Amino acid sequence: MHKTIETDVLIIGNGGAGLRAAIEASKANLEVMIVGRTLPGKAHTTMAEGGINAALGNRDPTDSIDEHFRDTVVEGGFLNDQRLVEILVNEVPERVYDLEDFGAVFDRTLDGKIAQRPFGGQSHPRTCYVGDETGHEMIMALTEEVRRRDLPHMDEVIVTRLLTVGKRCVGAFGIDMKSGDYLVFRAKATVLATGGGGRVYKVTSNPEEATGDGYSMAYEIGAELMDMEQVQFHPTGMIFPESAKGILVTEAVRGEGGLLKNIEGERFMARYNPSQMELSPRDVVARSIYSELQAGRGTPRGGVYLDISYKESDQILKKLPRMVKQFRNFADLDITKEPMEVAPTAHHFMGGVRIRVEDNRSTTVEGLYLAGEAEAGVHGGNRLGGNALAETQVFGARAGMFAAKFARMSTKPGVDRGQVEDEAGRLDSLLREGSKPQELRERIREMMWQYVGIVRDREKLHFALGEIERFRVELSQIGVGGGKKYNPEWYDAIVLPHMLATCEAIIRSALTREESRGAHFRSDFPKRDDDKWFVNVNVRKGSGGEMEVFTTPIVTTKLNPTTRSGGPSGRENYQIPRLQVRPRP
Ligand SMILES: Cc1cc2nc3c(=O)[nH]c(=O)nc-3n(C[C@H](O)[C@H](O)[C@H](O)COP(=O)(O)OP(=O)(O)OC[C@H]3O[C@@H](n4cnc5c(N)ncnc54)[C@H](O)[C@@H]3O)c2cc1C
Repeated sequence: MHKTIETDVLIIGNGGAGLRAAIEASKANLEVMIVGRTLPGKAHTTMAEGGINAALGNRDPTDSIDEHFRDTVVEGGFLNDQRLVEILVNEVPERVYDLEDFGAVFDRTLDGKIAQRPFGGQSHPRTCYVGDETGHEMIMALTEEVRRRDLPHMDEVIVTRLLTVGKRCVGAFGIDMKSGDYLVFRAKATVLATGGGGRVYKVTSNPEEATGDGYSMAYEIGAELMDMEQVQFHPTGMIFPESAKGILVTEAVRGEGGLLKNIEGERFMARYNPSQMELSPRDVVARSIYSELQAGRGTPRGGVYLDISYKESDQILKKLPRMVKQFRNFADLDITKEPMEVAPTAHHFMGGVRIRVEDNRSTTVEGLYLAGEAEAGVHGGNRLGGNALAETQVFGARAGMFAAKFARMSTKPGVDRGQVEDEAGRLDSLLREGSKPQELRERIREMMWQYVGIVRDREKLHFALGEIERFRVELSQIGVGGGKKYNPEWYDAIVLPHMLATCEAIIRSALTREESRGAHFRSDFPKRDDDKWFVNVNVRKGSGGEMEVFTTPIVTTKLNPTTRSGGPSGRENYQIPRLQVRPRP
């Protein structure tokens, strides 16, 4: 038995991208339904701290849209789809002003403009912020706007699969977590805004629900996934206490002057990237910390120091209030007086569902639109701090607009009863005697951390692939006790196949890319190789159910790598290319 809910545009995910998509879709006077696994205001976006990038030039008038474009592509290892980057940098200023219209109050300069701070890998201070609670302010404003527009939403609904008729997505199947009821959403267009998959790693800054569901559900119905090897490890996560391991220490700490030091008190970034030091791109800082730890220059707890305590304490309290609270509450440490201890943590997926530039639709599935971290192509091999929130607003709005346009031209589709019955049967069958899903989940996460982490090689990746096959066999032995109402163990079992598909996509893509670029570092291929690997790596489901890997050319509009040598990433390895306008393909 299930309930059917009909709508024009179904939005899956109530984070920054999903809410923005819903607002835009509603402007077409169509029915919109937002569903999310969490309560409103609890999505991952709320945790975002440091800010959102827009070349407003408020703090540095020499900043420009072109500079934002260039920073994004150069630090992305030239893997970005430059057409998407152009959209991002051109449209984000307007989307920031939209947020103000919805009620967000950004910090101001002395002359009343939106304040901007420096962030890693960026040539100008362009990150607009609300202290270190930018995501929270954004979600509050977006939620207010959703309320103002009276848009229907169903919270605490876990979507378990997408429904199709032929090659068209016609909605989704889910569970109302409060009642345990099965739900069938029948929609003319669907926007997938399910965020990332950091939880497939043992140490991560991501919340519980970031298990890669969107990637896996889209892949299952024929969507292509691109750049999945590009997982960003943020250099600074908390390392103690154990319960707080991986929680993010925002880049804003370094933006506000935080210094990285090893156990010998040395500012070790001078060894790796003296020109940018602490404000080097994230992949460079993460690998530098990794190297310090490997060389035995880490703290006894296995981290390095991040010190902002030399600054005036009232400035720290004003600019970084959340960090002050976070360290006081979790670690009993006063960051205005003592250094923090930090180490890398799995943070962001640059890869995701491959989209069409013109309308944010999946390249292969009709009716399926993508927004936010669920999509690929914007960030290339390494996301700049502040560009993910920008992506949620720019591409959330676009996905909502194009999904509504498609819905307006379409008739309401039927659903395939066979798919609905199969899914209900699969979910029912998990409620049986068997081994605990949590145990398998933790082994997957540990394996990914050990073998598919910051530094990879062929041997480790082959082993990881074998492990995935073994874990798949174990899936059949999983069983869950209890009933259907609010049963977290059941949800753990439900998302295990999503986690495994996400992991397999990362591993196969990482094995394929035999070079180091962006966040993907292969110790057996430590150099970037533009002759061979100036391509995107993609995966799709083959006709026999196997995961197929294929490559596609990178689309450039203005910038090309001008050097054929150099290391994996970081400005020190590149001649910064001049902007040269090429005809659009
Ligand atoms: C601690 C932290 C700090 C960050 N700071 C910054 C920053 O300062 N600047 C910046 O630019 N970026 C930052 N980021 C990255 C940025 O926050 C995210 O990339 C962005 O918020 C993702 O937004 P989203 O809307 O795509 O996804 P999310 O906000 O992750 O929303 C995804 C939604 O999908 C729902 N969902 C997932 N699976 C299912 C399912 N199966 N069924 C139903 N619903 C589902 C979730 O419940 C959630 O509502 C930070 C990330 C973290 C973790």
